[in-house]
Amino acid sequence: MLAESDLYVRRQGISDTTQDATFLNDHDACLVSASPGELADFFRGYKTWIDNMLDRAPHSAIHSIIKPSCKKNADHRTSQMFLVPDSDDYIDKTIINARKYYLKNNSCLWCGMIDQEIKSHDRMICQTDDFVVFVSYFARLPYETFVLPKQHMPDFRSFPDHLFPQLGELCHDVIGRIYRAAHRSNMSLHLHNIVVPERHSLYTHWSIQLIPWMNNWAGFEIATAMYINVASPEACAARLRTEKTAK
Ligand SMILES: [Zn+2]
Repeated sequence: MLAESDLYVRRQGISDTTQDATFLNDHDACLVSASPGELADFFRGYKTWIDNMLDRAPHSAIHSIIKPSCKKNADHRTSQMFLVPDSDDYIDKTIINARKYYLKNNSCLWCGMIDQEIKSHDRMICQTDDFVVFVSYFARLPYETFVLPKQHMPDFRSFPDHLFPQLGELCHDVIGRIYRAAHRSNMSLHLHNIVVPERHSLYTHWSIQLIPWMNNWAGFEIATAMYINVASPEACAARLRTEKTAK
């Protein structure tokens, strides 16, 4: 296991239970130019990072890790981990709605979404035996894309080691497709809901979200939390399906 000092630094002034941290060794790593092996290393590092962080702050729930792409002349574009206290007061709306879905359908919301997207195929980009990639029906931005494990998996710490190379290959492929379709190197990778309190594990499912930053949200979106997306998810998925894997 890596030492804490190898992975992250704590920010000054942040409490023990609500804190963020910085993954130290990816300052110069750009998502668009990262190799499959480098992406697999990121994910291996994230798994260790989560283990170490929860050892240190066992009463936290890890909400997400976000890795922004590099931008020319921009500093501090490192991965960041976001934690909230392990308390129902901090459980976000997504998890509350996922619980309602589970109680009604006796199935995880994300597992249900995976089944539906594979059946309809309209928003699918690609799939393997272990993962599925699609543009979500609720995409807030053009080419906003999800990568999910097909098997129900609430905790990224249980991700099997032998799948890291496949996840690196797949994300490399999808990042390349988005880059060529959207003509944007400015994108971010979000590893969501990777560790939540045990009581929520039946209805949460970790996911990777890839977001190319096409335009800034304006006053309407900020004021209403409703998002104007001028590109249909089906059209974006069709375009991404036609993009070939970069060699
Ligand atoms: Zn699931």
